[in-house]
Amino acid sequence: MQKGNIGVTTENIFPVIKKFLYSDHEIFLRELVSNAVDATQKLKTLSSIGEFNGELGDLTVHVSLDKETITVSDRGIGLTAEEIDKYINQIAFSGANDFLEKYKNDANAIIGHFGLGFYSAFMVAKKVEIVTKSWKEDAKAMKWSCDGSPEFTLEETEKADRGTDIILYIDDDCKEFLEEARISSLLKKYCSFLPVAIAFGKKKEWKDGKQVETAEDNIINETTPIWTKKPSELKDEDYKEFYRSLYPMSDEPLFWIHLNVDYPFHLTGVLYFPKVKSNIELNKNKIQLYCNQVYVTDSVEGIVPDFLTLLHGVLDSPDIPLNVSRSYLQSDSNVKKISTYITKKVSDRLQSIFKNDRSQYEEKWNDLKIFINYGMLTQEDFYERAKDFALFTDTNSKHFTFEEYQKLIKENQTDKDGNLIYLYASNKDEQYSYIDAAEAKGYSVLLMDGQLDIAVVSMLEQKLEKCRFMRVDSDVIDRLIVKEDAEKQTLAQEKQDELSILFKSQVPAIDKSEFTVVAQSLGESAAPVMITQSEYMRRMKEMANIQAGMSFYGEMPDMFNLVLNTDHKLIKEVLQHEEEACSNDLTSLNVQMNTLDTERKNLRKQHEGKKQDEIPTAEKDQLESLDKQWDELKNKKNDLLSTFAGNQPVVRQLIDLALLQNGMLKGEALTRFVKRSIELIG
Ligand code: ADP
Repeated sequence: MQKGNIGVTTENIFPVIKKFLYSDHEIFLRELVSNAVDATQKLKTLSSIGEFNGELGDLTVHVSLDKETITVSDRGIGLTAEEIDKYINQIAFSGANDFLEKYKNDANAIIGHFGLGFYSAFMVAKKVEIVTKSWKEDAKAMKWSCDGSPEFTLEETEKADRGTDIILYIDDDCKEFLEEARISSLLKKYCSFLPVAIAFGKKKEWKDGKQVETAEDNIINETTPIWTKKPSELKDEDYKEFYRSLYPMSDEPLFWIHLNVDYPFHLTGVLYFPKVKSNIELNKNKIQLYCNQVYVTDSVEGIVPDFLTLLHGVLDSPDIPLNVSRSYLQSDSNVKKISTYITKKVSDRLQSIFKNDRSQYEEKWNDLKIFINYGMLTQEDFYERAKDFALFTDTNSKHFTFEEYQKLIKENQTDKDGNLIYLYASNKDEQYSYIDAAEAKGYSVLLMDGQLDIAVVSMLEQKLEKCRFMRVDSDVIDRLIVKEDAEKQTLAQEKQDELSILFKSQVPAIDKSEFTVVAQSLGESAAPVMITQSEYMRRMKEMANIQAGMSFYGEMPDMFNLVLNTDHKLIKEVLQHEEEACSNDLTSLNVQMNTLDTERKNLRKQHEGKKQDEIPTAEKDQLESLDKQWDELKNKKNDLLSTFAGNQPVVRQLIDLALLQNGMLKGEALTRFVKRSIELIG
């Protein structure tokens, strides 16, 4: 028997290995099974080039559990005594040493923790044995054993068959790895698509209401998953079936893209556009990353562009460096190329479906748009490609490309300054009356009700030339697209002000909302009272909700305009009644206020250019007193108008109707409205 020290510099490497990557101890199984697969593949290669002439036989790799051990057995090339010394004693452990030295502080940032290899066995085992017999003629079977100290033993042994058994004596604090269910789920996670059959226990079947073992091996993997095949060999159903096997709970995917490149890097895989039922499902980490069919990770951030992490599927590339940290990964030139390649493939595929089967594309647009919008928003080169196949949808569910839509509205929706005005609604029901009014004018209204649409609107305003997006309820229809200079106002300013005061006094208090009342001449047929909300303020608030660092806007109240149409019969009547009831008082108040105003203006004029201490105290006092008197009169006027308005149910009724139309009339206010309506009918 030979004894020796394995090639480590640290006194005892094992405590380090154990501590290291504590949460990821489970990867030992992946490492051992993939070593077994590699050894098997090597034998197949030797056989195919004629160096190995014996029987290959059944090459299934077996994983088995015993009371205290896990054994991984293969019938691959095996190891000679010299090879054990070279690959296990020296290289493997010096590799371990380097690895730990390099990543001491950064171990968890390393994707997949590849490179740990054989010695990862010591994360879970107190003793490891290798029983192996090389394929080479006359090779002696060898047994290597190591109990976690840097000492090992190596001796000859008996082994009938070619290949290697790795036997792990599981540590007391790792007993979970002796449970069948645990190993079964680990094999499923890491080994489902390994290229050599892996058996774990025997197949079970139901018999008399019980599960019983059959004589047949339980093969846990699919050795030729679809991404290893040529697209020409596959049918749609194959892709769908593979998708179902990966995501049994998901709906059928919208599209898929088969990736297959050999140069300048190796990449295979199938990416799926999932059908997303709700936002909650939009989670990343659904793409699985493999390296030569060995599962590495389901977190592909940094490898594929951010927006594509929303896709589902599988990527397999031996050219993605796996033993480096994420931050390093993003600057890796292969990873950059792979990421660019995937973006291009995805946009090519979308472009071709759009071109060849537009109706199918439009049908799926609603589900697709979240991906495309996200891509356009986050990735400039994707925008450049996607702008030709991204779609607008109008409120009648018709779809247009950006270019088509521009042509459609150019004639009718260009304002006096040459800006193209895109009108949109974010809710067809809530904004119905505004959409209706816009359509009556021959305008087209887009439906922008998607999660990212507000951000898309802002992006497009920057990308497209001379254009603005306005929500249909952001102004009265004639001002949404201003075609001539300001229309004539038919009502005197003083009367407009009185109307505003009068209505303002009756606007109910609504939480986190503020109203500015304005009187405008909108024509006899337009509604008497309307509520609009400035595009700018509303959008700032909406952006605040989806963007960090804008919370200032998010906390502001919603600002609405209550627009009174001075041309409408009902408003005219209110004004007429007001004149009948208040005109005497108002005239006298107005006269007094005007006199005071003239007086204080004159005084102020005299003070122009003077410093505060040059103004006589008497004049300062006089000015103060004039202001005070004016304020008192103003309050009187407000009181007069509010008292009048309070006795005019029609004022409150008109306001409530406008609120109702915008879904803003609730609770007590709504109940009072209903009561008042009944009284008015009666
Ligand atoms: P890696 O697989 O990355 O080279 P490992 O530490 O996992 O590193 O393994 C070291 C070496 O030991 C392998 O390169 C291989 O030559 C040999 N080896 C490991 N497992 C087996 C096995 N089951 N059969 C034959 N050789 C093996």
